[in-house]
Amino acid sequence: MRIIQDRIDYEVTGLPPVTLPADLNDQAVQAKVKASRLSGHQLRGLEDTTPQESRALLWLLAEYCTADRRDMTFRALLPIPGGVGQIILRYGSQFQGSATLVGRGLPMGGKDPGVEPEDLLQQIRTQYRLGGIRGTWTPDQVLKLYHALARVPEADRPALLGVVIERVAHLGADKYGAHTQGRFSHTAGRTSGDWGTLTLTDAAFTGDDKGFYGGSDGSAVYPPSVQVILHEVGHAVESQVRRAESRANADLALAISGGAAYPRERSLPDDAPITQGLQLRYQDLRDADAAEALVRETYNLVAARQDAAGKIAACRNLGGKIAAFAQAVQGMKDPGTVAPAERLLKEIQHEHAELVSWYDYARDMIVRRGHGEEFDPPAYAKIKDALAGKLDHTPWLTYTGELNRWADLHIATSAWRKKYTRAEGFVTRREQNLVEHANLNKIGIALTPYTKAFFEGDKAATELYAEAYGLWRVHPEAVASHSADLLAYFTSGAYRQGD
Ligand SMILES: [Zn+2]
Repeated sequence: MRIIQDRIDYEVTGLPPVTLPADLNDQAVQAKVKASRLSGHQLRGLEDTTPQESRALLWLLAEYCTADRRDMTFRALLPIPGGVGQIILRYGSQFQGSATLVGRGLPMGGKDPGVEPEDLLQQIRTQYRLGGIRGTWTPDQVLKLYHALARVPEADRPALLGVVIERVAHLGADKYGAHTQGRFSHTAGRTSGDWGTLTLTDAAFTGDDKGFYGGSDGSAVYPPSVQVILHEVGHAVESQVRRAESRANADLALAISGGAAYPRERSLPDDAPITQGLQLRYQDLRDADAAEALVRETYNLVAARQDAAGKIAACRNLGGKIAAFAQAVQGMKDPGTVAPAERLLKEIQHEHAELVSWYDYARDMIVRRGHGEEFDPPAYAKIKDALAGKLDHTPWLTYTGELNRWADLHIATSAWRKKYTRAEGFVTRREQNLVEHANLNKIGIALTPYTKAFFEGDKAATELYAEAYGLWRVHPEAVASHSADLLAYFTSGAYRQGD
């Protein structure tokens, strides 16, 4: 089953574009303020804010002061003399306003490390052990990716292992009919080798010249695309253990292929021989049956005092307990010396019958599974328990080794199924924990219009998880203003508990 998690547009700001007056003097600004509903104002700037920039701040504060913006805060990229300003506008209930200039130019999420874009992509790929970075990226977008991933806490970085990050022009609209900015998709299966793909579209970056996150009290300023990227990383974190266990199962299945191992940070190719590894091999028991027949026939020949030299030699060649039998059978001279050979014959026949019965048990499971029956780990463990310390010698070793290997793999895959497949679908413990926590603490699901729509439509918390994760990393006060409990859930690391 392919799990695809899309992201719908989420507006950071809705301020319409304006142009500053060409002659931005005190007179023009005062006239603007007078004509507006602004009842008082506070201006905050950078250490080197110019008088002209201050005039622009006040002019903009007056320009956007309308009744529907009372009790609201906007983080907008607005014109200032000579370029663009990163400005926070706040309006109180009585039209008192404040304008804060937190930076100039379009934010990238941090400083430019001064590395060529191609080299920076390579550095990102190596640092986070990504499966690859594909598509066409502008230098700014590379920088944003760099700063977004730098916001991923150390403990969550293993979630990026093997993930491919790709840039595409666009994705089709999802079922809510909205444009998608990005998505994280992966194959959720008991033996999947797919680490996942994080896709970013042109639309992921279109808000970057309109608004931003952060900037309060000197905190860093992030373009909206950084939150989009971190939202998708949130999906990777939520599904981290499930994907890792899925891959471990695939590796277990592949271990019998005898081929070269696949690099850990690469998803397995579609033609990786996983299916073969899930089969139970040597079901014809040819060598085991032949060994039992050889021992029985040898014994009968010797008992009938016929020539058995050839068969005795064959027994010796098989080694192990059958070589011991060859030794004993040669000592059979009269009724008094039969016992050791007879005892070994019975032992070997008993062991053979036991092996056959466990192969029958496994074959029966295979047939019933073919009819849709599911088995839990103990059903497979029964085989391993029964064989433990027994039959692990010649000539049964190949067969018992195979039964153990097959049981191990199916214990792992059926444990995976039990853990991640519930009535609601492929739900991880991390997602389930957040649902329970949100219900228990009455955390509203409408963190953003998007999480609300998704939660109501799908009854799934994965979008609340991803959206809160992304927002927490760039704009924690937004999560706190929705729910202090929800923010604490992330800052405490509770979101990382569970599989
Ligand atoms: Zn999402």
